[in-house]
Amino acid sequence: MSINQSGWRPTAPEQGKGNVPASVTGNKALMLEEALIFEIGDSHTTGVDFDTFGSPANAGAQGAKDAARDPGFLRSQENKLGGLTRANPIGLPGLSEPETVRHYTRLSRQNYGIDLGFFPLGSCTMKHNPRLNEKMARLPGFSDVHPLQPVDTVQGALEVIHQLAHWLVTLTGMTSVAMSPKAGAHGELCGVLAIRAALEAKGEGHRKIILVPESAHGTNPATAAFAGYSVEDIPATAEGRVDTAALKARLGPDVAGVMITNPNTCGLFERDMREISDAVHAAGGFVYCDGANFNAIVGRVRPGDLGIDAMHINLHKTFSTPHGGGGPGSGPVVFSAALTPYAPLPFVEKQGDQFVLIEEENADEHHAGSFGRMVAFHGQMGMFTRALTYILSHGADGLRQVSEDAVLNANYILRSLDKTLDAPFGRSGPCMHEALFSDSGLAEGFSTIDVAKGLIDEGFHPMTMYFPLVVHGAMLVEPTETESKAALDQFIAALRSVAERAKAGDASLKTAPHFAPRARLDETLAARKPVLVWKDPAPLAQAAE
Ligand SMILES: *Cc1c(COP(=O)(O)O)cnc(C)c1O
Repeated sequence: MSINQSGWRPTAPEQGKGNVPASVTGNKALMLEEALIFEIGDSHTTGVDFDTFGSPANAGAQGAKDAARDPGFLRSQENKLGGLTRANPIGLPGLSEPETVRHYTRLSRQNYGIDLGFFPLGSCTMKHNPRLNEKMARLPGFSDVHPLQPVDTVQGALEVIHQLAHWLVTLTGMTSVAMSPKAGAHGELCGVLAIRAALEAKGEGHRKIILVPESAHGTNPATAAFAGYSVEDIPATAEGRVDTAALKARLGPDVAGVMITNPNTCGLFERDMREISDAVHAAGGFVYCDGANFNAIVGRVRPGDLGIDAMHINLHKTFSTPHGGGGPGSGPVVFSAALTPYAPLPFVEKQGDQFVLIEEENADEHHAGSFGRMVAFHGQMGMFTRALTYILSHGADGLRQVSEDAVLNANYILRSLDKTLDAPFGRSGPCMHEALFSDSGLAEGFSTIDVAKGLIDEGFHPMTMYFPLVVHGAMLVEPTETESKAALDQFIAALRSVAERAKAGDASLKTAPHFAPRARLDETLAARKPVLVWKDPAPLAQAAE
């Protein structure tokens, strides 16, 4: 439905269901339809009560003249701002305060978030964001600091950064950490720039190839290319792991390094990691590990023991800070001893009982090779506070349990559904933090997208679809440790039911979702020809008359 200057009018008639007629409002009980703000607003309404003009004198000379010409002028919207009259309407919609509040509240109810239900997206680690984190981050001593404040006035904030850095270095078994990168992909760039600086310092700047496995997250090859490298694919084995023999065979004097995700995007641990690292080092290259999946191994595996030189940690994944629409990411990068001299500035150091910010390359001999900076200031302070709160509230034993529970939950999903859906790598053993299924076995003409849309009708955000690319019609499900058995059982029952329908060729699934505010959309058209700007239909309608 929509309301405009001519009042409320129904939009396209809705189909009723069975013998139940559609509502005239377009609303479905408490699920309320909401038009665009441009369609419900008008140029004469405002949520702000401006002072009215008592006399033409207040309106200035021009206002007085206009008032004399047009007695209605003083009442008009345009004259309320000190007699400065707009030449033309500016086309912004006006709403009263309650209309505005309802508009955004209604839209927010059509949103899906981790606080509303289970988010099975794989490769994203959508875990609960504890409220304690939020409470700590809002303490004025943390939330009100300014990056240019004198360091002696922000000792507490620097201590938080220093303590978190200590935890990250200890949990990963690495030598140092750059806290400033602002997301996983930004951390990847940080790591690859450090590798480049190290190679150049050794006179090996001619190494221009970075090897990336087929199953890599799209950010890995993008990062390597952005940093000026050529990317070469390394195939996966039938088991879903890096083909170690193929990787070793490709190493040579032109290879700068490898970027490997571990656990990988098929939800499997790369067991040959140590052997791969040794081979890469022997060939003069460096090993970058995409640590976005650290949630599956935190407290159990130290990447430093696997010979890794640099790895980003997504605080918004493993350490429970919000992401997606919920908050900015944060991607600190841990470094080996070999790369530490090239790590970016700034970082926090403890000198005596004072915390200091090291901001200059020549501050000490250990950082003379620093490649520079990733960001203007020091990183995402709000996320540091949240992540440290999460770490301290779990403790070392609790963090170990996080990864154990995450892996247990994923295997529970894998084993509960592997008789219904094809689990290509599930045959060879357990998975890590995510369960991977393919579209093999669905009826002719049915694909992963139909299963995903069916899940929406069941009240779930769809799983990750068609990724990783090494599996046909991939469905990647990551439950995380924060879901209860009851929540997992409900999800399993829903996915099983939808998958059975897709296997049986239930035609109603091809037009799902049926209960969402909008049914199946033409996603290809939306991507190819996005309509991003609202155009007033009125001039068109008038032209046609
Ligand atoms: C999420 C993710 C990234 C990118 O991290 P952002 O914080 O989204 O930039 C990279 N690799 C993998 C495997 C991921 O899951």
